[in-house]
Formats: sequence, C-alpha cells, structure tokens
Amino acid sequence: MSPDPNKESRIAWLPDLFYTGGRFERGLALVSDAAGRIVKIAGADEVRDEKKVRLSNRAMLPGMINAHSHAFQRVLRGRTEFRGGLLPALSGGSPTLNAADSFWTWREMMYSAATRLTPEDIYDASRMAFLEMTLSGITAVGEFHYLHHAPDGVPYDDPNLLAKEVVRAANDVGLRIALLRVAYARSGYQTGPNPKQQRFIERDPEIYLKNLERLIGDVTRGTSPSVREGSSSPAKDGALPNDRANAPHTSIYVGIAPHSVRAVPLDYLREVTAYANEHQLQVHMHVAEQPAEVSACVEEYGRTPIALLDTEGLLSERFTAVHAIHVTAKAIPALARARAIVCACPTTERNLGDGVVPADQYFKQGVAVCLGSDSHAQIDLLEDARELEYHLRLQKLERAVLDGGNPTVREGASADESGKGTLPNGRVSALATSLFDCATTNGARSIGAAGGALEAGRPADFFTVALDDPTIAGASPNNLLSSILFASTRAAVREVVVGGRPIVSEGQHLIQDEVIERFNELQKNLWG
Ligand SMILES: [Zn+2]
Repeated sequence: MSPDPNKESRIAWLPDLFYTGGRFERGLALVSDAAGRIVKIAGADEVRDEKKVRLSNRAMLPGMINAHSHAFQRVLRGRTEFRGGLLPALSGGSPTLNAADSFWTWREMMYSAATRLTPEDIYDASRMAFLEMTLSGITAVGEFHYLHHAPDGVPYDDPNLLAKEVVRAANDVGLRIALLRVAYARSGYQTGPNPKQQRFIERDPEIYLKNLERLIGDVTRGTSPSVREGSSSPAKDGALPNDRANAPHTSIYVGIAPHSVRAVPLDYLREVTAYANEHQLQVHMHVAEQPAEVSACVEEYGRTPIALLDTEGLLSERFTAVHAIHVTAKAIPALARARAIVCACPTTERNLGDGVVPADQYFKQGVAVCLGSDSHAQIDLLEDARELEYHLRLQKLERAVLDGGNPTVREGASADESGKGTLPNGRVSALATSLFDCATTNGARSIGAAGGALEAGRPADFFTVALDDPTIAGASPNNLLSSILFASTRAAVREVVVGGRPIVSEGQHLIQDEVIERFNELQKNLWG
C-alpha cells in the first residue's frame, strides 16, 4: 500500500506528556497539517505515514496568550526603579529624590521615552518584547497600540505606519498578534492638553475609524510591510484577518481599543464601540486601573467607569476590561451579565503600585479573567498567573484563595470538571488548572484568537517544558501543572511552535542574537 500523500505532509509531534483537559497524559501525538492546523490528537502508536518529531523528556502545553501588551515599553525596563520625577537622561534635569513615586510619575517617564522613538526603534523594541514572549511560551499577543503619529504629533503619510512596524516585528519573530488599535482623544476631563500625548491623539472618531478601516484593509490585502516582503505570515493567503472560523492559522487580527474613559469622551466611545459591534471586532479598554481615574469619571458622568459602560450598553462578550482593580460590588455582576472579560496584569500592577485585582470576586461571580504583561517590567505569563493568586494570599492571609475555579471559556468544561478530585498518585490542582486557563483559553477569547487549547481544528500553537528542569523535576503527571505554574522559570521552556512552525528550539529563538544586538544598540542610543 502506498503512503497517503496528505499524511506525508503532516507532522506528528510526540512528547512524553501531553496537556489535555486539565491533566497530562502519556502516549499521545499531536498531528498538524501543512497549514499549521491541528488535524487530530491521536494515540502515539496510531501515527504511521506522518513525519514524526519526537519530543523526548518533554511535556507539551498549549501556547499562552498575552492579552495586554505595550511592546515599546520594553525600553523602560529597569530604568524607572527609583523614587523621583523625570529621568535625568531624558529630561536633562535631576530627579526629585524625595517626591512620592506612583503610576503617574512613572507615566511621565514612559511618555518621555515614547516621544523619542523612531518607527525603526519601535520595530526593534517590539521585536525584543515579542522575542522574550516566545521564549516564555507565549504564542499570541494582544498589542494595545497607541503610538500613531510622528513625535511632533503630525500624522505620517501612512496613518498606520507604526502599527505596521509592530505587526512586522511580531511576524518576524513568529508570534501571532491582535493589533488593538487605540482611540485616544484627550488628556482627561477638564484637563489641558499634555504635549507628550500628541503621538497618540486622533480627536475625531471619524478619523480614527477611517484609519482603523485602512489598517484592516491593508492587513487583509497583505500590504503591511512584512506580508508584502514575503515573511512567512500565513495571513498572506488572503484570509480576512478577523475571519477566525475560516482561518484559524491566520496570524494577524485587528481590534479596537478606546484607551480609557479618561482619554475617550462618551460620544466618541459610543461611536467606535458601535462600529466594533457592527463588525464583530474585539474591544479592549483600560478600566479602573487607578482610583484617580475612577473619581474623575464619577465627577464627569456621576457614575464609575464600569457603571458608565454598563448603563450605556457598551459591555459585551467581546469586551475586555484591562485591570478592573478599583471596582464596586455592583460592577462585578454587570461584567458577568455582559460576559465581558477582565484582563489582569499582576506583574505590572505590582510594579506600578496599582493595587490588587479582585480575582476571587471575578471567579466567584463568573467573570473570566485573562492575563497580560502590559508594561513588560517582566515578561513571564506564568508569573502573572501565580501572582493573581499570591497577591490575594498576602491581602487575605489565606492560601489557595482562587481554588474553586475560574469560569473557563472552553466549551463543555466547567472548573469542576477540569481536573479536581483525588487521583491515584496525587491530586490535580483545580487552582493550577484555573490559573492556566487564564493564561490560555480565556486569553484566546479576549483577543479573538483561535488558539489556547490543543484540539483538532485549532492552530498548532504550543510550547514544551523539559521534565528534568530543576524547577519541576520530580513532579508526577498529576501535579506537573502545579509545579510548572507555581515554580518553573522560563528556562524550563524548550520548544515553541506557532502554526506548526518551530520558532524556539532548545530554549533559543531562531533569530535571538540579531534581535538582542539591535535592541542593545537602541537602548544605548536612547539612554546613553
Ligand atoms: Zn496597559
């Protein structure tokens, strides 16, 4: 019998342990086709004509989804860790050493960096952030992109030049991207213009929507730089970027991101959200990150941000509230009713002193939580996942606060079905499973990606961990996820595959050296 040619173009990936439905199993193979889609999960002894890739001493898990990123902020890492105002290198002045430091002083420093970056700098900084994401097992990112214009505030000839630089960076690194194009109209309610925000501002919703449509069109037609230059992005097959059902392997999606209730007045917000609803686009928005944002909203509208969004009918199942820290008791059922998602960014929130996301309340009341690395003070989504729990332990003086489960968005599975119970050699932790769902399935739903789980029809996006890594050695299949989630570091991540294409091998990204070299040069030019 001659071999089946279709099967010959398929790859059977054979790890020692395979993560499925909240637990690890032995003897399974993931079979992907030439388009990078998962054809089936089969018994390892059932694969015959497929090309076999043996992943010895490895456990395979679905790639993680980083639902909230500002890639360019990677340039700030380690540069703001002191008490004070403006950075001397950027402002030419001395820091105010005895001034209180907060989100707001950090923001001024961030703006100072944001106003100096060229399009090529943004590409280099984004590539660095995205490369680091892949090395930690992330396979898709939601990029909340708000740098639109030249440093003097004048639009570029192509109003999406910088967005396309970010998309190009993601493509060149091999990461899937949802470009969440930010609408930003003003500094705030009764607040004068801040010249450092002029790269972000599109005052008129018609201009914003025109530029958004142009971006979607360009990405669809494959005229964004890397697609045009023939990168390996599957988006060049002409599939609509947001047509996930027909193109689960598509690498680029576009969504809308009204920055916040502070930066986008209500009429503008209504208009862009109506557009998103009409076109079924994902909507991401910073909500209640800081108490000052909440009090300004109450002053302007007589309602808190979530009450405003709720009463205006702007919440939906495609809405992601980023941070949602300083919320009232009434806000949580409003998010739950709308099936909106909350994106927690614990590593950034602790770095900026934002506060603690009330994930226990969200879990309890049925609000799905996903995760983002946001400012990239650190890029490690497993750390974000464990901090979601650990911050609550410190606050409540209790352990396992989030045990009991987060509403997973995986069809047909509830938290209780996803692995809780006593098994022969130990107990599978429903807590670990819930936190991992935050980093995978919930993130995929938030950014509108088709990944997040290893099932037939989804893209072959996964990462492996080395079973002999010192941080997880000795774990049994039943408690392996807990070990990975609560103890492993990025060094345990060995292979990362996106759309059936390996981008990280033996813990090294294929273009790592060049990306780091270019980023070192950028930092030297930027900071001296
Ligand atoms: Zn953010």
